[in-house]
Amino acid sequence: MADTTVIRACDVLNQALPPGSPPLSDNEISEDCQTCGEVSLSSCSVRQAVETTYSCGKCGNPLLIIGATNPDGKPWPGRGYRLKDFAVRNAVDLRFRGMIIPRSPAALDISRKG
Ligand SMILES: [Zn+2]
Repeated sequence: MADTTVIRACDVLNQALPPGSPPLSDNEISEDCQTCGEVSLSSCSVRQAVETTYSCGKCGNPLLIIGATNPDGKPWPGRGYRLKDFAVRNAVDLRFRGMIIPRSPAALDISRKG
């Protein structure tokens, strides 16, 4: 079965909200691009492959990756946050609804260190 569904950040971050909260949308989520300052997730370019990558719409820096959790199930310190079946790997701070998810220093790493 071809998987053409784009996994949107809002769908995954929804799961971080208290039960009964109204659904989140990407335009409520902002990120602190190190080059451009605060940018809305809805202004980012989105590339869907195995993972969903959000890049800054102005400078092209990768800001956020929504991917599957590590296949081996082992924690990968600093790489991101696990929400149910997905890993949220934010290279920059994420803000939505008064919450802040601090950046993951290893968000863009391809292989585990050490
Ligand atoms: Zn930028």
